[in-house]
Amino acid sequence: MSEIQADGGPLPPFPDDLTIAQFILDAHHPLRPVRDRLRPWLIEEATGREVGSDELRTRTFGLANALRIRYNIGEDDVVCLFSPNHIDYLSVIWAVHKLGAVVTTANPSFTQEEIIYQLRLTKSCMVIAHSTNLLVAMEAARTVGIPADRVVVLDSVPDQANVSNVQALVEEGLREVQQFAERRLKQGEARKKLAFLLFSSGTTGKPKAVMITHYAVIANVVQNGQYMQLTAGKVPAQDLMFGPESVMLGTLPLFHAYGLLFVLFSGLAYGAAILVSPGFQLERALMSIQRYRITHLCFVPPMAVLLCKSPLVKNYDLSSARYFFVGAAPVSAELTDQLVHVLPKTCKIGQGYGMTETATMISLMRLDLRVGTPGSAGVLLPGYAARVVKQDGTLARFNEPGELHLKTPSMALGYLNNPQATAETFKDGWLITGDEVIINERKEIFISDRIKELIKVRAFQVAPAELEGLLIDHPDVADACVVGIPDPYSGELPLAFVAPSSDARTRIERSPEELAKVKAGIMEYVAKHKVYYKRLAGVQFVDAIPKNPSGKLLRRILRDKARNMLASG
Ligand code: AMP
Repeated sequence: MSEIQADGGPLPPFPDDLTIAQFILDAHHPLRPVRDRLRPWLIEEATGREVGSDELRTRTFGLANALRIRYNIGEDDVVCLFSPNHIDYLSVIWAVHKLGAVVTTANPSFTQEEIIYQLRLTKSCMVIAHSTNLLVAMEAARTVGIPADRVVVLDSVPDQANVSNVQALVEEGLREVQQFAERRLKQGEARKKLAFLLFSSGTTGKPKAVMITHYAVIANVVQNGQYMQLTAGKVPAQDLMFGPESVMLGTLPLFHAYGLLFVLFSGLAYGAAILVSPGFQLERALMSIQRYRITHLCFVPPMAVLLCKSPLVKNYDLSSARYFFVGAAPVSAELTDQLVHVLPKTCKIGQGYGMTETATMISLMRLDLRVGTPGSAGVLLPGYAARVVKQDGTLARFNEPGELHLKTPSMALGYLNNPQATAETFKDGWLITGDEVIINERKEIFISDRIKELIKVRAFQVAPAELEGLLIDHPDVADACVVGIPDPYSGELPLAFVAPSSDARTRIERSPEELAKVKAGIMEYVAKHKVYYKRLAGVQFVDAIPKNPSGKLLRRILRDKARNMLASG
């Protein structure tokens, strides 16, 4: 089993004694272009305001100083960033890192319960929230015992005079004498020093905090850079993925690894400017592509579906687009085909495949083709070793399906305070992806199925165990199992198989109206407690949830049953 089946080629040396900001903002690396000091790093979508390296350094410094003076933020403290994308998102992250502390990013649409879960699990000591979710943040902070003055607003809003905001803190930190020493790392220390706690449910169970080090993030940045180098000379320099002329559309959420670690960090590292947009709205995105001459579009499949279907597209000039990446969830060959017709001929189109646990990118489209091989999630990046393991435990050959196991310097350390889940997913130096793939002789990866429990709705993670845990507390539910069913827009939607409680069963059997009522009650209950994309697409009543003799849920049986039900209408 130790035989390596495929690898993405070697990586050049890169430092293990730098934080992410020290690597991207301060250090030089042979893979990285020298950046024109006057070029913006970030552009605010609504206003066109540009933030360059000098301003980023100043804001990061000021904020770090104030976070130390006011809140004594220091080594390994966890700060939760609970906001849509914002021009100061990066300054917050780098200020926290300057103090040796750790950032956990949260979905700004989370309900109170969901953010409480994250604050508790990560033991966050402070929340930096957007004004639109400030009330949820305050209530959640109160529940977990974070003092009210440790909830800070990311954007400045005049009617929040009693709450500190980042702008005021930056100004305060710049006024005061420096009260902190920037955290420097010893040789090798970046390999263990946590930068982020990002959330993923892994192969099984509830969402967990993935421990991502500074080194893992830098490694993935270098992997993307080395990947570009493999194509250098074969395509014109401006077509080498990112470069100093690139302007990337930053609409993907920065709380997720794809937006944060790939778009933001790899984009910035290779000279791109990032257009920071608070979220995806098709017409606004089209206007921005035209207005800011966007060169790089990073999408997830539902956004690409909207783009292909919308009549608005023809009203906008998309001729600046050079790269269109789509990933984070399965991308059909048909969707790629439709994109070819919508996007300008000068724009390359392809998939990326990644995971939070690998600090994102695992494979990327071939950069020398206009359109990646249909259905392929691209080529394994340099620095990756991969093996494909069949159900019987033997290694698959090229073109044979099996579970993908990976080794990479970008691998996370494991799940915070969860040795069992860590041991299941991080085994003997290999990351067990839970994805079924086929790899061909050209190192192209095709994702053929998902073995793990995870459901991906609009590319967001939905952990069945989380919904099952909630359902079981409903008085009408005796037992439950949640599976994903295919959906043309969202990719998948969660469907619950429910064994009703005896009382509910009596009502269900009374009449179809009663049955509909019980179903609706269960669906509303989930909608009330969970963020919008975790809502159930339906409830299917069954006599019992199938389990093996030791009580383990036989999820596959119900997943296949759901698919058969759908197929037969
Ligand atoms: P996340 O950690 O949220 O990025 O989720 C990672 C999981 O998303 C992977 O293990 C895959 O199951 C799925 N995924 C990511 N990219 C792709 C892709 N291009 N095609 C199919 N599934 C993908």
